[in-house]
Amino acid sequence: MLANGDCSSTELTEHYLERIARLDKDLNTMISVNSDDAISGARACDERRAAGENSPLLGVPMVHKDIFCVDGGKTTCGSRMLETFHAPYSATVVNKLNGAGMVMLGKANMDEFAMGSSNENSYFGAVKNPWQRDCVPGGSSGGSAALVAARLAPVATGTDTGGSIRQPAAFCGLTGIKPTYGRVSRYGMIAFASSLDQAGPLAVTAEDCAMVLQAMAGSDERDSTCSNQPVPDYSKSLGDSIDGLKIGVPEEYFSDGLDDGVASAVRSALAEYEKLGAKLVSVSLPNQGLCIPAYYVVAPAEASSNLSRFDGVRFGYRCDNPADLEDLYTRSRGEGFGAEVKRRIMIGTYALSAGYYDAYYLKAQQVRRLISDDFDKAFADVDVVAGPTTPTPAFKTGAKTDDPVAMYLNDLYTVSANLCGLPAISMPCGEVDGLPVGLQLTGQHFDEARLLHAAHRYQQVTDWHQRMPAGLE
Ligand code: GLN
Repeated sequence: MLANGDCSSTELTEHYLERIARLDKDLNTMISVNSDDAISGARACDERRAAGENSPLLGVPMVHKDIFCVDGGKTTCGSRMLETFHAPYSATVVNKLNGAGMVMLGKANMDEFAMGSSNENSYFGAVKNPWQRDCVPGGSSGGSAALVAARLAPVATGTDTGGSIRQPAAFCGLTGIKPTYGRVSRYGMIAFASSLDQAGPLAVTAEDCAMVLQAMAGSDERDSTCSNQPVPDYSKSLGDSIDGLKIGVPEEYFSDGLDDGVASAVRSALAEYEKLGAKLVSVSLPNQGLCIPAYYVVAPAEASSNLSRFDGVRFGYRCDNPADLEDLYTRSRGEGFGAEVKRRIMIGTYALSAGYYDAYYLKAQQVRRLISDDFDKAFADVDVVAGPTTPTPAFKTGAKTDDPVAMYLNDLYTVSANLCGLPAISMPCGEVDGLPVGLQLTGQHFDEARLLHAAHRYQQVTDWHQRMPAGLE
C-alpha cells in the first residue's frame, strides 16, 4: 500500500498507535510507546518516499523487544533493575532497521532479562495471549508475539536464547525465525547467555520475516562473534518449488510429553510438505533427552557472569541508603532482580564454582558437542529437520509459575538450535482447542534462505498463518 501510494506511513503509524491505545491496556504487550517520535519518523519516511526512495520497509511501523538498546529512550529488559535506564547508544539491529526506514512505535514487554517461557517474569506485568486471554503468550519475547498477533504492529523484533522467538511465535500463531548464531549482531542487545543469544523477527508470514531479517543481518565490526559471510537475498527464491527437499523427522520428537493435538497438527503439516514434493526421511537425535539439562546449566552459567555488571553502581537500580559497599551490592541486586533471575544467577554461580565446574559446566559443554554431532549426522542425509516447536499449545496463566522445571520443559524442542548455533523457524500449522500450534524447521548453519523458502511454500498452500484472534477489530 505504501509503494502504491494507497496510504502514507503517517496514516499507517496513526492506525497502529490508535490500536495500541485502545487494545493494549488489557493485553499489556508494550513497556513503552513512543507516539510523538513515531509520528515524526513516519513523516520523514513519507518525505523520503515522495523524493523517490522506494525501499520495501520504508515507512513500515514496528516494535522492538525491550532488550535492544535505543538511544534516547528507556531500555528496561523487563526488569526493575533497568526501569529507569537510558542507553547511551543504539543496538546495531536498531540502527539497521532505522536505516531501512522502519518506524519504531515503542518497546515490547518481555520476561525479565529474557528468562522465561511465559512472559510472567516481567517486572511490568504478565502479557495476555490475544487468542485466549487467560493463557500466556509464551516467552521471553511474549510482548513481541502478542502484539503482532493482535495486529498492534505488522512486525516486531525478538531474541532467542533457548526458544524465545519460536515458542511465543508458536503460542500466538505467528512466523518467527532464530537465525544462525552470528548471523545478526548482538551489539547493544542486553546479554543473557552470550554463546546462545540471537535476534530475529516475528511476523505474520515467512515473506515478512525474510524482508526484515534481510535488513537485520550482516557483519558488524562491533561484535566479533558476528559473521562476515555475505547475506543472501532471502526474498528472491521464496516461491520456487521445494520438489525434492529432504525433511528429516526425528523419532525422538514424537515421544512422551508431546500433546496429541500438537502431534497430529505437525503430522498433517508434514503430509502437506509431501504433497509439495518434499521427501520425509526418518532421522535420529539420540541425545535429544539431554538438551534441557545441558541448556539449563550453560544458560544460567553465562547469565550469572553477564548479570554481574548490574551491581548498583554502573547501571540502573540502586538501593536507598546503603550502609557500606557490601550492603549496596547485595540490596541493589536483591531488590532489583526478580525471583527467576536470582534462581538463574544462583544455579549458574554454583555450576561455575571451583569443585563443581568440571561436573556441571564442563560436562554440559561436552554434552552440547554430542547434540551438535547428532545434527551433523542428520544433515548428512537431509536438508532440514522438522518437528513441533512446543510440546503443548499455550497454557493458562499461573499454571506453571510454582514449578520452574515444568516451565523449563516447554523448551524441549527449541534449545537444541541454540546449543548448536543452528537457524530454526516456527510457523503456524494448526489449532488445538482454538489455540495455534507451531511447526519448527531447523536448518544447517547459514541456511536461513532454505527455511524461509520452505515456510513460504507451505504458507502458499495453507491459511493457518492468516488466522487472527477474534474480538480485536
Ligand atoms: N525459555 C528459555 C529460558 O527461560 C529461553 C529463553 C530465551 O530464549 N531467551 O531460558
